[in-house]
Amino acid sequence: MTVKKPTIAIVSLTCCEGCQVAILDLGERLLELTEKIKIGDFAMIEDEPETKNFDVVFVEGTPITSKNIARLKDLRNRSKFLVTIGACAYLGGIAELKNYQDKNERLRYVYKNVESIENPDIKPVKAYVKVDLEIPGCPINKEEFLWVVKELVAGVIPKIPQRPVCYECQLRQNKCLLQAGLPCLGPMILGGCGAPCPSSNYPCDGCRGPLRGTNINNFNRSMQELYGFSQHEIDLIMQRFGMLDDNYPQPPAIK
Ligand code: SF4
Ligand code: SF4
Ligand code: SF4
Repeated sequence: MTVKKPTIAIVSLTCCEGCQVAILDLGERLLELTEKIKIGDFAMIEDEPETKNFDVVFVEGTPITSKNIARLKDLRNRSKFLVTIGACAYLGGIAELKNYQDKNERLRYVYKNVESIENPDIKPVKAYVKVDLEIPGCPINKEEFLWVVKELVAGVIPKIPQRPVCYECQLRQNKCLLQAGLPCLGPMILGGCGAPCPSSNYPCDGCRGPLRGTNINNFNRSMQELYGFSQHEIDLIMQRFGMLDDNYPQPPAIK
């Protein structure tokens, strides 16, 4: 008897497509995976989608244009399970930086003719459609993606362990950058990346989003009272991947 392979799609909205590159970087292991799954749509490796309906669709990027939003809703209708991949889809990502600026002024700064350009506020995928699972990161951790696919194929909905970046950072025996005076968000950010940034002497700026249940206000208070950072400094870091407005009801406009 032949068991039908689940069909997956990997699609992009507006983004740099770096998360798809991370998936391609699995190399032979991606090819091995095709023994267990059928890839119905993956624009980076094929021109035309092979399939119309999917068991799982992985969505990368931010829904920015009305065309993006219509595509996202259509994909949701054609897929049993929808998983976002990367900070753009999960948090709004880099594109969300303009939410904290005068977005019309920014548009005029970049483009001469602005009449035909849509310039909405940026929102993550979950603001438009039901999301079943979110793989965070900028880019995603390819090992985590592989694990998620294997779990889903086995009929298990994976749960990303809720441990902070500090956990992996300390396992790597790094010197703590926060204690050395650098603004590292590691204590409140979901680990699973292997702490590559603090391991390279660069503070974690939160591309994987906050740990579930984190009290952002308490963290902010500690950053200010214990380590001497200003709210403005913390806000600027939390804007980078679109985390700021997920945690504040009314994000301050920072000019
Ligand atoms: S999350 Fe990062 S790597 Fe992935 S598409 Fe967005 S900007 Fe690119
Ligand atoms: S450097 Fe950052 S991630 Fe590492 S232990 Fe210190 S606060 Fe945590
Ligand atoms: S250390 Fe922080 S910024 Fe770096 S990959 Fe991990 S979550 Fe992202």
